[in-house]
Amino acid sequence: MSVRLKLTEIFLSIQGEADAVGWPTVFVRLTGCPLRCQYCDTAYAFHGGEWFTLEQVLERVASYGARHVCVTGGEPLAQKACIPLLTALCDAGYRVSIETSGAIDVSPVDPRVTRVVDMKTPDSGEEARNRTDNLALLRADEQVKFVICSRGDFEWARDFVRREALPDRCTVLFSPSYQQVEGRDLAQWIIDERLPVRFQVQLHKYLWGDTPGR
Ligand code: SF4
Repeated sequence: MSVRLKLTEIFLSIQGEADAVGWPTVFVRLTGCPLRCQYCDTAYAFHGGEWFTLEQVLERVASYGARHVCVTGGEPLAQKACIPLLTALCDAGYRVSIETSGAIDVSPVDPRVTRVVDMKTPDSGEEARNRTDNLALLRADEQVKFVICSRGDFEWARDFVRREALPDRCTVLFSPSYQQVEGRDLAQWIIDERLPVRFQVQLHKYLWGDTPGR
């Protein structure tokens, strides 16, 4: 039987985050997530969705004619079929990335895929779900992302980054939680601490607001 995946949406947009920021990118949003971060902007992907075969997903992705594909959610790795999907996208020649919550083992992901792994801060409400074993698996071109909701979150993340020597292993991204922390404040905190992390904002939200399918 063909591999099937439950999808909330597939769309073409501009990558708003991480190293691939700015590239036209096809987003494949898988349905479902076992976490409930308080700032979640994709709660519409928790339930519902539509079943696609792997071949149907590849057809839809190809129809957009983009080089970059981002597999996201929800939590995409919560569906086992995400692993063969990632491999199939790499085989088809795309530059593939995955955005994952950090709560699930990332080791089965095809090594051609760039993994962007969250570390959940205390104010996300999901800190207990962090799977720190994932950090040791990341290559230098891969990324750990902290969404910062408060000054307390910043201090927690700063201490975490230093304790784990994360900047020596991979790229570390700090992003202000949308409408919870001023980007300017977070940028200043990073500068003041001389913290070797990359500040980023969610570019797509500055372009289009908090709109699904963008
Ligand atoms: S892991 Fe991502 S999709 Fe899941 S609740 Fe948190 S922000 Fe939302």
